[in-house]
This record gives sequence, C-alpha cells and structure tokens, in this order.
Amino acid sequence: MSGDDDRREATRLAHLGRDPAGHAGAVSIPPYRASTILFQTLAELEARDPDYTGVRYGRLGTPSSHAFETAMAELEGGHRAVACGSGLSAVTTALLAFLKAGDHLLMTDSAYGPTREFCDGELARFGVQTTYYDPLIGAGIASLIRPETRVVFLESPGSVTFEVQDVPAIAAAAKARGCTVMIDNTWAAGVYLKPLSLGVDISIQAATKYVGGHADANLGVAVCTAEAWRPVKDTAVRLGVAAGSEDLFLGLRGLRTLTVRLERHQATALRLAEWLARQPETLRVLHPAFPDCPGHALWKRDFTGASGLFAVELRPQPRAALAAMLDGLALFGMGYSWGGFESLILPQNPGRIRTAVPWRDRGTLLRLHAGLEDADDLIADLDRGFHRLRRAAS
Ligand SMILES: *Cc1c(COP(=O)(O)O)cnc(C)c1O
Repeated sequence: MSGDDDRREATRLAHLGRDPAGHAGAVSIPPYRASTILFQTLAELEARDPDYTGVRYGRLGTPSSHAFETAMAELEGGHRAVACGSGLSAVTTALLAFLKAGDHLLMTDSAYGPTREFCDGELARFGVQTTYYDPLIGAGIASLIRPETRVVFLESPGSVTFEVQDVPAIAAAAKARGCTVMIDNTWAAGVYLKPLSLGVDISIQAATKYVGGHADANLGVAVCTAEAWRPVKDTAVRLGVAAGSEDLFLGLRGLRTLTVRLERHQATALRLAEWLARQPETLRVLHPAFPDCPGHALWKRDFTGASGLFAVELRPQPRAALAAMLDGLALFGMGYSWGGFESLILPQNPGRIRTAVPWRDRGTLLRLHAGLEDADDLIADLDRGFHRLRRAAS
C-alpha cells in the first residue's frame, strides 16, 4: 500500500483524524464535552506528559481537539497544530508565543483589522513595536528587518484588498535573519496554498470560515513546524485559550466536504467576478485569479485555486445609491465573517486603517463572498441591485 502522502487531497480529507475503532465504530468522532478527565491510577496521575498527547484536562486537550489538530497538521503539512477558540485567538497566541518587550514585528499592511488592533493595542502596551509593510514588498522586506525583529507576519491574499504576497521571497529573507514567519492562510482554507512548503513556520486559519463552512462555529488553528509547535502550544496553555468541543466537532465535519465546497465557491466567485467586471460602474475586480489583482502572477505560481471571497471597486457611488442597491438584495446578506454556504456582500473602507500604503482616491469597494447558491440566481440578484443603484444615482 502506498503511504498517506501519495493520496490526493479529497481522499485525505475524508479520512484525516478519524479513529472509528477508538470510538465504538462511529465514523465521526463525537464531541467530547470534558473538563475533568480522570486518571485510573496514582502512577498515571504522577506521570508527566510533556507532549500534551494524553493530557488529562479538558482545556489542554480532548480527543476532539487532538483529532482536529491532527487533521489540520496533515492537511497543511505541519508537525502539529494548536486549536484555539477563534481565528483571532490563533493569531494572537502565535504572536505572543514569539514576542517579548523590546522586540519588533513586521506586519503586512493588508492584515485583518482585528489583527492590527491587537498589534496597536496589547502588543504596543507590552513594549512590542509593529511596522506595517507593503504587502507587495517581496524580497525587499530584508531592508525593514532590524536586529530586534522577531516575527514577520503575512496574510495572502489580504482579506479586504486581495494583494497576493511573495511568500517564498519574504519567508527566505526573514529566515535568513532568524525571524519566525507566520501567515494568515484563511482565504486559501489550507487547501489552495501550503505555506509551510514555502518556508513559513506557522500557518494560521480562522477555521470559523471555510473549514467550518456553515457560519455556525468559532474556531481557529495554528499549524506549526516542529520548532514552532511547542512555544505556540505552551503559550496557548498559559493563556487558557481552547476550542469548544462542539466547534471542534463542526470543524472536523467541515473538513470532510471542504474540497467539494471550495470548488463550488471558486466557480461561482469566478462567474460573479466576470459578470461584475462587465458592469459600467466597475473600475477593477480584486480577485487573485484576475490580472487586475496586485500579485496575480504570484497567485498563479503559488496557489492551486481560488476561494469565494473577492472584491470589486466601483466608480465612487453616493451613499443613497449604495443603500438602494444593498438594502434590496434578496440573496446576499450583509455581514462580517464569511466562508459559509451563504453569499455575502459588504462595503469596505480600507482607507481608514492602512498606513504603509495609503488607500486614497479609490472607488467604492464592495467585498463579496460567493456562497453555494446557484450562480445565475446570484447574478440576477446583483443585476437587480445595479438597476436600483443606477436609478438612485441618476
Ligand atoms: C475572520 C478572520 C479572522 C478571525 O477569525 P475569527 O474566528 O472570527 O476570530 C482572522 N483572519 C482573517 C483573514 C479572517 O477573515
């Protein structure tokens, strides 16, 4: 029999982290609701478990978290993973594991807003200085690395502005100077980009998004190399971050259908983006698979697909016209978070937060998430929206 590594992704996703023999034959591992986990003997109680594999305390690990972490580590080609109660707590735990007072952090200017707020808030308060860098800087990152720079953090593509970063070039420059390299890999869902194979130490995901896939779980995960795993796990234990058993169960369940859903998200997003590109109001489509998108060539080189999240930049629209368009949409919901089966649309204003590369004199930015609905129905809904927009604008 050939090894697991030879199997294709869809096959692996159907089997990752499963153990029917250990769970009364059940195909899926049931959610383990456990805080106290009993020891059978005094000898067991006294035995230390430095690897957290058989730990006896709910917050430190249960069969639910072990299964999810094993599955995610295999999916992304990591040594081990650390599950957290949200994507943001996976980000903050990884950062805290490697930073101390006096250190310097290089953070992409395209980072998820709350990640920035953590850098400008808690990290600054505890004496860590953050420099935001141009996401398209590539190997030029070397010129920003100081002796006290400890971490270089990427998010590719940015989840609002969609710049695709040169992951291998940035990772190589950072590693050459002894920095730990982390990436927010939520957009690619751990499927369409394998950051650890490109030199990254920690790949972080809001599993809340595509892995969960149904807008009903809060879950985060940091997939780590052998060197990076222990600091992240120890920090998670000390901070007390842990994922709930129900959310872990939903994350594991989501993995089984992940590639199937992603293919549909991808195909529908491309249909919507192509349609949007043809509207007279459209200035640019910010979708990594489109040549307009900054870093498109890097997406072609490093990614094996595109998920369902992208943006469109329209000629500046009056607020009333935008409201007429958005308020009347029947299928697109307005809401944060994404990666579920439902389509979403949201006006975005990156100009408020960008610092390294100001976002000025730009059009009206709408971020869309293509859900699992029929693409023609979604286009019809958007089409009616654009008619409302035109009527209100004229
Ligand atoms: C949503 C999101 C997060 C945070 O995930 P939560 O589970 O909501 O905490 C982090 N990064 C990106 C890119 C996200 O879209």
